[in-house]
Amino acid sequence: MATRLLSSLLLIATLPLAPIAQAEWLSDEQSVMGTVVRIELWTDSRKAGQAAITAVMEEMRRVDRLMSTYKEDSEVSLINRQAAIEPVTISAELLELLARSLRMSELTGGAFDITYASAGHLYDFRRKVKPSADALAAALSAINYRHVVLDRANSNVKFVRSGVRIDLGGIAKGHAVDRAIALLQARGIQHALVSAGGDSRIIGDRRGRPWMVGIRDPRQENKAVAVVPLSNAAISTSGDYERYFEADGVRYHHIINPGSGQPVSGIRSVTVVGADSTTMDALSTSVFVMGVKKGLALVESLPDVEAVVVDADGKMHYSSGLMRR
Ligand code: AMP
Ligand code: MG
Repeated sequence: MATRLLSSLLLIATLPLAPIAQAEWLSDEQSVMGTVVRIELWTDSRKAGQAAITAVMEEMRRVDRLMSTYKEDSEVSLINRQAAIEPVTISAELLELLARSLRMSELTGGAFDITYASAGHLYDFRRKVKPSADALAAALSAINYRHVVLDRANSNVKFVRSGVRIDLGGIAKGHAVDRAIALLQARGIQHALVSAGGDSRIIGDRRGRPWMVGIRDPRQENKAVAVVPLSNAAISTSGDYERYFEADGVRYHHIINPGSGQPVSGIRSVTVVGADSTTMDALSTSVFVMGVKKGLALVESLPDVEAVVVDADGKMHYSSGLMRR
């Protein structure tokens, strides 16, 4: 009798402790927007946490349907077909992101320019296609963010000339990440990370310690050149390794100099850290185009933004705030 009691007590002691609400980390990874979207969050309700993950993934897909140039029925595709002919009525959300894109163009002296796509669409990095010199020259005059005119009162956009195309590839992922973070915050989530390819944002910390975010080596996928401790921050990396092909010893990659319509040389990757993902996404692309000197000067002029640049020789350059760390 005594032994039976003892063994059943032991049995109880080895059962896992199951408090009513057990807090835990949940994570998920899905392929959205042509990249990998990853979510990690801390929740005391598995059901609520999983519902939040589902909502975030759906939100990412919604933004993609709105803004992808690969989808014929996206608002951006409609703009590219129609805006040189007549003003195109668009959603408030897209109008706002276009306005932010144009403000980034002003801030960066035109380095960030969504009309890069007027020539950019002539590249196909998967099929290793680049434009001929003639085709590039013909497209070049259509690159200028001033060709895009927004009418806020009537919620429409037009292009002032033909041949203009826009692409939000340098800012839409950041926007989607910010939307995801807002959604998680509205659900009361206090510790989370959302990343879409090179754009990540963090709410809170990793429960008592910072998140450690690695900056990958631009030439070795599984190696990091630096690790940045972060909480409540956004971090974006632009790299020449994301979409590219090589021909005649030249790396043709996806970040385009709006002045030449050609891929930017001189830098392998740019990482920026700041408050929100939309700005960091556009800024990482901008600093890449501006080059080490001008790009870092821009970063220094912005409050609470830091940067790490890996140049064409693999040398690292830091903004002064990171140097101090
Ligand atoms: P990211 O990975 O954020 O640097 O964004 C790169 C993407 O931005 C490219 O794949 C293009 O879709 C787009 N892009 C390329 N060059 C420019 C540019 N000069 N200004 C704005 N967007 C650009
Ligand atoms: Mg970017």
